[in-house]
Amino acid sequence: MRCPRCEGLMVMDAYLNLEGDDGQVWIDAWRCVNCGEIVDRQMMHNRRRQARLQKPVKAHKNKQAA
Ligand SMILES: [Zn+2]
Repeated sequence: MRCPRCEGLMVMDAYLNLEGDDGQVWIDAWRCVNCGEIVDRQMMHNRRRQARLQKPVKAHKNKQAA
């Protein structure tokens, strides 16, 4: 996996999530060895969803174009 920020190498790490619904939860997340970016599954899911929502809508062809 490549870092979405810098294209650096990412490695799997375990992190303690203190904000989980069940209290303290260990989660697996990807960490960039180059810039330190951390991406977990929820973040990846949210980013993909956001990217889909931000896809530009195809503009209608301009009928008056010559
Ligand atoms: Zn990076």
